[in-house]
Amino acid sequence: MAYPVTLIPGDGTGPEITEATRRVLDATGVRFIWHVQEAGLLVLEREGSILPPRVLDSIRQTGVALKGPITTPIGRGMRSANVTLRKSLDLFANIRPAKSFPGLRSRYSNIDLIIVRENTEDLYAGIEFQRGSPDMAELVDWLDAHTQVQLSRDAAISIKYISYAASRRIVKFAFDYALANKRRKVTAVHKANIMRYSDGLFLAVAQEVAREYPQIQFEDRIVDNMCMQLVQKPEQYDVLVLPNLYGDILSDLSAGLIGGLGVAPGANIGNEYAVFEPVHGSAPKYAGQNKVNPMAMMFSGALLLRHLGERPAAERLEAALGAVIAEGKYVTYDLKPTPDDKSAVGTSQVADAVIARLRHG
Ligand code: NAD
Repeated sequence: MAYPVTLIPGDGTGPEITEATRRVLDATGVRFIWHVQEAGLLVLEREGSILPPRVLDSIRQTGVALKGPITTPIGRGMRSANVTLRKSLDLFANIRPAKSFPGLRSRYSNIDLIIVRENTEDLYAGIEFQRGSPDMAELVDWLDAHTQVQLSRDAAISIKYISYAASRRIVKFAFDYALANKRRKVTAVHKANIMRYSDGLFLAVAQEVAREYPQIQFEDRIVDNMCMQLVQKPEQYDVLVLPNLYGDILSDLSAGLIGGLGVAPGANIGNEYAVFEPVHGSAPKYAGQNKVNPMAMMFSGALLLRHLGERPAAERLEAALGAVIAEGKYVTYDLKPTPDDKSAVGTSQVADAVIARLRHG
């Protein structure tokens, strides 16, 4: 059987890493029918949008997408394509694994973390009040009347919005992920000692859900302490589940623990659809130079294989990537001892090396 998958090359360096990743996925022996959908700056001029409706229609039809990065045009009042994708398809869970591989330049060698970030609410819900606006004045009047806090009139406000339902579905997702992937522990991260109602709700829901999964260990950590623990003893952690903002920050921290953006994959998952993409952006200054590392997108491809139920192929692909990283010969500049290392290879040569490993071990 062949899997229909929407393939979004994106812009900047996106098309190069997407082509390299498509070649590698085809070489795993799993059969795909790629529905290629262009998006990003290239189509903005032509179709008036960085994410035309046909792209979403395609994902609604195939159910899954592999996506290259898309540049967010600055100063045109345009929403990022990623935010639109997440909201339109209700991709409520953002999964970012951070795993050590021998050969990656990092201070640590034994990290195997899964960050599960809530993707739809928290301070990212878009409930904001601009300084000096009539709505802001009305809000300050109301808060003056209903709280003990005296608010300054020259302030701006962003609202932290955490719901029971969204907290429950993300924590359940983390526990189900732990079960399906033979993980031992889930850690909920919060600041419930200060934000007693919003983070307090998230923590209470996490504790409630944890009782439904007695076979998985559960603990919670306050976010600032969690940052210190991740730097001091990251090997003690397994699956972390976090509200949106802490998830955003700690997933970059975790990418830094394992050796950087060039190898950090991601997935955005909902009940109906899933979109796999590297954590990094479009790195436009390197566009068209066959220079950047395609491995973050290739690891995202391995997550896609797992999602499709092709676990053995996912493991073979990760092993091939691990072998190329460990050998250290056919890797891009970012995985070399210094960025100007003359022995660095290009994007498509990395794909050739991974394909050779897939074919010949
Ligand atoms: P970026 O991740 O594109 O690049 C930052 C730097 O990281 C690059 O200059 C490069 O040195 C390095 N880098 C990134 N990817 C690399 C790779 N594959 N191999 C080697 N080095 C790599 O971040 P940015 O410059 O802040 O963002 C550029 C654009 O991408 C912005 O418009 C931003 O909005 C967008 N963006 C898109 C996504 C997405 O589509 N998912 C994610 C993040 C940023």
